[in-house]
Amino acid sequence: MRILDDVARFVARLGPEPVCDPCIAQKLSLDDVALASHARHELAGSHGFERFKGACSLCDQSGMVIRRH
Ligand SMILES: [Zn+2]
Repeated sequence: MRILDDVARFVARLGPEPVCDPCIAQKLSLDDVALASHARHELAGSHGFERFKGACSLCDQSGMVIRRH
């Protein structure tokens, strides 16, 4: 799934900074936030990615975010 690769690269580029679904969708020009959410779920717990509740580093909104260690 190509979107998964795009999301993985995007999150990895932000490094230890967490990012939320809407920002992932917006930055990657995805039409569907649900798609970004799905990709993020797939990534969580693998390849050093982790999901947790916190503040997004891009939009400052609190919620579920993902980051790469
Ligand atoms: Zn955000």
